[in-house]
Formats: sequence, structure tokens, C-alpha cells
Amino acid sequence: MPTHAIHPDTGDRITASLSGAALVISPRYGESYSFDRAGRLLSVFIDGRSCQRTLDHRLLERGAPGARRRELPPDERAALLDHAFANLRDLADVVPRLDLPPDERRDLAGALALVLAFGPDRLTADGEAFRALYKPVSILPPDQYLALVLQATEGCSWNRCTFCGLYRDRPFRIHTPDSFRAHCVRVRDFFGAGLSLRRGIFLADANALVIRQPQLRALFEIAQDVFGLPDGPRPVYSFISTFDVARKAPEDWADLRALGLRRAYIGLETGDDALLQFLNKPGRVQDAIEAVRALRAGGVAVGVIVMAGIGGDRFAADHVAHTVQAIRAMNLGVDDLVYLSNYVPAPGTEYPDQAAAAGIRALSEDEITAQLAALQTALREALPGVRVAPYRVEGFAL
Ligand code: SF4
Repeated sequence: MPTHAIHPDTGDRITASLSGAALVISPRYGESYSFDRAGRLLSVFIDGRSCQRTLDHRLLERGAPGARRRELPPDERAALLDHAFANLRDLADVVPRLDLPPDERRDLAGALALVLAFGPDRLTADGEAFRALYKPVSILPPDQYLALVLQATEGCSWNRCTFCGLYRDRPFRIHTPDSFRAHCVRVRDFFGAGLSLRRGIFLADANALVIRQPQLRALFEIAQDVFGLPDGPRPVYSFISTFDVARKAPEDWADLRALGLRRAYIGLETGDDALLQFLNKPGRVQDAIEAVRALRAGGVAVGVIVMAGIGGDRFAADHVAHTVQAIRAMNLGVDDLVYLSNYVPAPGTEYPDQAAAAGIRALSEDEITAQLAALQTALREALPGVRVAPYRVEGFAL
């Protein structure tokens, strides 16, 4: 039950929710903060502004005028945090005078002491520690934004799709069991009590499941050794490429399922072979269909990701029709997901120039929106009970 109290001097209504995986404290109407259970700030709502704090210590303002999201410059971030923590200190000072049952007063005082000990300077240092611990986490599926990311690999083993710039900044690398254990231990120490907010593991980066089965098993066992739950393995999620699936025996998926693997996210992008080839994406549509079937046969659910807008006007009609056809052929079930993302040009990638040279006109925002709607309608009709959801790649922040 949330704690409610009235400020004895100002009459402001104070509320606090302290029993969940996140602590939420509101000193007055229209002002609220959330923290993980280590006391690490997660979000701020103050003076009509709503900001998410990322683990690398950026403040992203949502709904800022003229922008979907704005990163606060350092001086503005510092001013906002100073203001927020001054208000939290004021609240801590008044707690002894609040009309509250003793246990609620003690819990509120304890929570405030915890979050005040994680003030602006420590948050800055925490962001630096996060950046030292991880290579940039380029992207996660939307249902994994609160996952515990473990970088079993760095980068993408292919890294040559012409539209994708997610991992161009790093060579592909696989952790050895020893270096992966060291990574897991550092991640555990970094999050501390804040781990309670992070239910599942996301095995990053682009296609960690490409690792040969004996080594992959070893890495799963290490992850479960460090992060396993009292009642069994912690659920594990990961991206996968079509060509990774064919490298494993069908029984390998059931084996990984037993070690915690619950869902693999596959970037289909399109069900049109000609467009896949144009994008230099390896594998054919039939390979993707068979990959999904193999995963599902091993008890591993799938998240299939489609990209609206890619292929411009030239491919638009076939992209929609063949994608719906391909996903129908995958025989998805209620545990599976389809994500509809939108193409956003990435700096340094080949696709925009290659498309222009081929006389392909890029779709306008409105045309991409219409294509998303067409895909959504057709897929929802074709796949009753399967979740078909948007995936705005530019909205990602960890
Ligand atoms: S789209 Fe996937 S497979 Fe292709 S380069 Fe990007 S991460 Fe790698």
C-alpha cells in the first residue's frame, strides 16, 4: 500500500510507493521521482517536465516542444538534478514530523536516505561506471527495455546489411567463459539491489546465439550461476539472425530452452526475397520461416521484426504482401510477437545512396505510416491472438 501524508507546513500531499521493484516518491502533486532499489534515479517529473535518466546518465525529456524526446545539455541536467535533490532533502527533513504510523515513517526515512546517498555526483560516477562496463547497447526489443543486458558478444557477426548502422563501431567479438564470468560479476556489482527491477537477461549484442553450442551452453550456465533465480533459470532473451539458426541442431534449441532461453528476436525486415537481396541481408525468406519453426519446435518463442518503409516505392507493394505471406507461414502462437519497426536512415550506411542510384524513391513519413497500418491490419487479421506491436527504434534508451 502506498504511504500518504500531508506536509505539516505547506499542506502538500506526499505519497510514496516503496514496496515494488522501483521506489516512487512524490513530495507534492505534480512532482514525482522513481528509483531502483539501489537508490539509482530512473525518472523525474517536475515543473511539468518528464525526464528519463538513462544508465549512462543522460536525462531525456519526453514530450519536449518540437521534439519527441530531447537530451538535456549537461548544465541543464545539473540544474534539474540539484533542484530535484534539494526538494528530496527538504522532504527528508520533514519526515520526523509527518503524521504516519512508525513503520511507514521509518520506511520513508530509509528510502529517502538511500536515494539521497545516490545524489548527483554519485549518479555522474555511476554513468561513467556503466560506460566502462558495456559497449554501447545499440538497441533492444521494446519488451526488453528493463532487461539485464549481458554482452556475451560484441557487435554483429555479419555487420553488412546496407541499412543497418547499429554495430559499425565495433568488431565482432565473443567472450571466453572466463571473460564472460568477469563481465557478469561486474554487472551484478554495478546494479546491486537495483537488479530486482530487471527480471530477464538479454544476451547481447546483435546475435549472441551464433556462438557454437558448447561455448554458448557454457555462457548460459555462467549467466545462470551468477543471476539464476531461486526457483530456476532466469529467463533469457536474445536477437538472432536467420543464418544462426541453421548452424544449430534442432535439439540445441530445447537444450537452450532448459538453460533459460525463452524468446529469440529475428530481424526478418521483409518477406520479399528481392528486397532482402537488395539490403544485403543474408538468407532467404524460406530460411527465416524454417528458422522460426525450428525455434518454436524447441520451445523457444519468437519475436519477428519487420521494417516498414524500407525498399521505398519500388518494393512497397511486394514488401507488404510477401511479408504478410511469410509471417503467416511461420505458424506463430500466442507466446510469439511481431514488431513493426520503421526505417530510419542511419549515418554511414550504404542503403540511401544505393536506393537513390537505383531510382528508388524513399517513402514519406505519411506513406510509412500508411504502410505500418497496412501491415498491422493484415497481420492482425492473419494471426488472431498474436501480439502485433509497433517498435519505434528511435525511441530506444536504456
Ligand atoms: S540488420 Fe542485423 S544482421 Fe544485419 S548488420 Fe544489422 S545487426 Fe547485423
